[in-house]
Amino acid sequence: MTVTLHFHGAAGTVTGSCYRVVHQGGQFLVDCGLFQGNKSVRDLNLKPTPFDPKGIDFLLLTHAHIDHAGLLPKLYREGWRGPMWMTEPTAGLLEYLLPDSAGIQEGEAERETRKRNRRGNEPVGPLYRMEDAEEALKHRRTCPYGEWIEPGPGVRARYWNAGHIIGSASIEIEVKDGDKVIRLMFSGDIGPDEKVFYNEPEGPAGFDYILCESTYGGRERDDYTLVQRREALKQEINQALGRGGNLVIPTFAVERSQELLHDIGVLIKSGEIDPRLVFLDSPLASKVTGVYRKYAKMFDDVELGADELFNDPRFRIIEAVEESKAINAIRGGAIIMSASGMADAGRIKHHLRNNLIRGNATVLFVGYQAPGTLGHVILSGAREARIHGTLVPIRATIRSMGNYSAHADHSELMDWISQRLPAHGAIFLTHGEDEERKALRAAIMSADGLAGDQIILPLLDDYFELSAAGIAAKARAATQRIDPVQVHSDWHNAFSDFTIRLSQQLQSGSDAEKLALMHALQDKLSALGAPPSPGHRTTPITPVESRSVDE
Ligand SMILES: [Zn+2]
Repeated sequence: MTVTLHFHGAAGTVTGSCYRVVHQGGQFLVDCGLFQGNKSVRDLNLKPTPFDPKGIDFLLLTHAHIDHAGLLPKLYREGWRGPMWMTEPTAGLLEYLLPDSAGIQEGEAERETRKRNRRGNEPVGPLYRMEDAEEALKHRRTCPYGEWIEPGPGVRARYWNAGHIIGSASIEIEVKDGDKVIRLMFSGDIGPDEKVFYNEPEGPAGFDYILCESTYGGRERDDYTLVQRREALKQEINQALGRGGNLVIPTFAVERSQELLHDIGVLIKSGEIDPRLVFLDSPLASKVTGVYRKYAKMFDDVELGADELFNDPRFRIIEAVEESKAINAIRGGAIIMSASGMADAGRIKHHLRNNLIRGNATVLFVGYQAPGTLGHVILSGAREARIHGTLVPIRATIRSMGNYSAHADHSELMDWISQRLPAHGAIFLTHGEDEERKALRAAIMSADGLAGDQIILPLLDDYFELSAAGIAAKARAATQRIDPVQVHSDWHNAFSDFTIRLSQQLQSGSDAEKLALMHALQDKLSALGAPPSPGHRTTPITPVESRSVDE
């Protein structure tokens, strides 16, 4: 009997983290995340689970982000009833994140069913329901950082602070292989060195196999200290409030909202900014903020007590719809934070609709905006955006700050890896686009003197035979759930990018330039065999609107 390691997610993509280890005593999972991104990748969520969940003994969860935990309810929907181990704050976050995700799944299925009804097609069911999320929550088991647990025969594990979000962990695992032990390290997502709430990521050294994320494997951020970041935020806030309008910040419910609240609270306390009111308008972010308050004693970098954290008298943390609507009447002097962070869903869309049109308002982006999202449309300089079916002119000032990141950059990943070495067997690079992990691989080879076959870039559903003294022998799954090429090229995304660029081009040039562009495209279409449009060369084609980013 050998030990095998299977990559069922985050292999060639960033999302869908899921690893399965099969050993002589049974099998277990590390993470079971939702696939997010383009449609081909998202469709993986709907495909059958590539193993029988009922054969799994237990699961070890690195952190509560939905791309690591979002398919847990699906496992329970498929009949699994085993325990999942996690830190206490992770268990606290799941309490809200899994039901929230179930609500999104149910909503999406309802919308899709309505669409299908109109075409006379069969209804669809959700990926999982609220009852599946509630079932999953019953099977949480918690463990502290730094102490060994024995979740099953022949396996022991230890959680280490990964400095990524509250409760996040790298997991050290020992698996019995005959009379030997194989030592594994799963990085989880690794945080940057400079971060509010936590010190640097931790972990021991010396393994047989290391699995490391590579989200920013090829990218270097400007170095900054927490003080410098707060200074940059202060300038953005003072400039925004100086314009007389509101400052709207689309923000993620977990971590980013709390970091911003904390930084804004510190700036108010020291008299460096003077907003009239500060809103965090998101039922989920509000509940998540409660989890942060509860575990504030675990934070390394915060001097305040739990009762002082997020408690400035100007803060309004809002859940009720009526209170959210009341914000509409405020025309200036307020900081309004709301989810989602990419502005493609949630209450932020109402606040953008109200404020984008105001010339004295400011919208500040503090996170990555994926192509195709409303946030990306606004940030890329569009003059109008479709929100809730209405075309809203953009008159507000649009700003962005890049230094609120929950991920380690290239150098920080290199540091983390070199502090974990040696890896006698291999290093697997996961959870990153190919470009990022290739860059990281090249850097590790030259810096740490490892051979090429010791740094492996697994593809989806690949598996490897592990041994206590050697390089992993590779085997590829007989059937792959996705064509690896599809992961990167998806026509839906290409189409939305194309229409946005075309629309911008058609809005910006002179009339003659616009006509020339349209004629060139018409000619190209004719050359490809498309029937000529009714008014070719006499009536311009109707300009394509910016992609409607609406649910
Ligand atoms: Zn994460």
